[in-house]
Amino acid sequence: MPILSALQYGCMYELKLYDSNSDRKGKVDNMTDNELIEIAYEAEKMAYAPYSKFSVGAALLTDDGKVYTGCNVENSSFGASVCAERTAALKAVSEGNRRFKAVAIVSSSKEYTYPCGICRQFLSEFMKEDGKILLHDKDEGIKIHTLGELFPEAFIL
Ligand SMILES: [Zn+2]
Repeated sequence: MPILSALQYGCMYELKLYDSNSDRKGKVDNMTDNELIEIAYEAEKMAYAPYSKFSVGAALLTDDGKVYTGCNVENSSFGASVCAERTAALKAVSEGNRRFKAVAIVSSSKEYTYPCGICRQFLSEFMKEDGKILLHDKDEGIKIHTLGELFPEAFIL
């Protein structure tokens, strides 16, 4: 009987499928879109947004099944502010995870909140065009785009 276990340490989650009698033993299982959205809402609670009052949370799923969370972190020097999805991406990359499969983004508006242009460019460095961007609206539910839809013809050095 497989046991789906979410291990949380710090702001990083890892989902694994444990089944001693299965050939899937030790393999990392994918989480559902709903789970990723829920984790993004949890991350939003950590937002530091005293200036805009607009809190954002993100949950980023890497190719190897790890989830990194992020929130927006504003600064009185506005240009120093960092978006939620970039916070999550920086955490992932700084821990050696450079391939992203999906990113869920939610906000205090409870309406679809799209990644800004800088984040779209930033994510394109670590995410293929078919990588999923999950957005949530309290009335409409989950909307899924690919990164390629939101950011075609990315700048590549
Ligand atoms: Zn952004």
